[in-house]
Amino acid sequence: MTNEGLNWYPETLHGSFQQRFQITEIIYQSKTEYQDLVIFETPFFGRVLALDNVIQTTERDEAAYHEMITHVPILAHGSVKDVLIIGGGDGGALRDVLKHSAIKKVTMVEIDRNVVELCQKFLPSISDGAFGDPRSELIIADGLSFVKETDQRFDLIIVDSTDPIGPSLPLFSDEFYSDCRKVLRPDGIFICQSGVSFVQKDEAQKTHKRLKDIYEDAALYLTVVPTYAFGFMTLGWGARSTTARSTDINTVCSRFNAANIDTHYYTPEIHIACFSLPAYMHY
Ligand code: SAM
Repeated sequence: MTNEGLNWYPETLHGSFQQRFQITEIIYQSKTEYQDLVIFETPFFGRVLALDNVIQTTERDEAAYHEMITHVPILAHGSVKDVLIIGGGDGGALRDVLKHSAIKKVTMVEIDRNVVELCQKFLPSISDGAFGDPRSELIIADGLSFVKETDQRFDLIIVDSTDPIGPSLPLFSDEFYSDCRKVLRPDGIFICQSGVSFVQKDEAQKTHKRLKDIYEDAALYLTVVPTYAFGFMTLGWGARSTTARSTDINTVCSRFNAANIDTHYYTPEIHIACFSLPAYMHY
């Protein structure tokens, strides 16, 4: 699409409205076994990854998402050692989990090898070498079958999936959420992305109900990722105990300071505040 002779990338996630990005260069484009993949350069957001016409991550604002799906559960829990990431092919969640020196192992189960390889090559700042960390293990498989078959147990499961269209669809199901609960340790935490609630209310509501049906402690929490457009980005929280989510600000602060990690978005104050929802999200 062009105007004034420029090229634009329109995101087509929603029916009656779109966002679009000026393209300064198409870095790579292909149809993988699972999805349409494009990585392109933009004047403001840096490099952008889109899958099946949906913006996945941009160099400029990815921290607001990856820091909130990792540091919130890890600093709330206080002694996470073994982590499972489902999806997350760009490596951002892997990078931020590994910033915590107490983490022993991160198993990442990504269905599409091309996403990992092409993001490492053309979007290296997102994973920032995380795939080479000896604590990380990459498994190319469907997350749905992995959680059914694994005999490993985890303190934290992060479902960093695409939206429920295409290969991610089975990851938005009672079956998958229950299977994840079975491989969580007694004080384990389950985190999932659940869309922009103002324009994907159905997704957020269904996630919240599913979490309440399956986990002892269920909640939604919020971040703001400008390129996940049209409102708060909603994250789902399911835990087998209520202890972690009620960790007080002083404990979160001391754990954050002890972790000695740099962040662009996460702060202990935002950690405490992010579970406060606007009235329209009180489902
Ligand atoms: N941060 C992005 C977001 O919030 O939407 C998503 C990050 S990542 C690019 C999403 C990944 O989920 C993709 O690499 C995709 O291949 C992967 N994925 C989709 N369905 C999957 C499945 N069933 N099992 C494992 N990975 C899956």
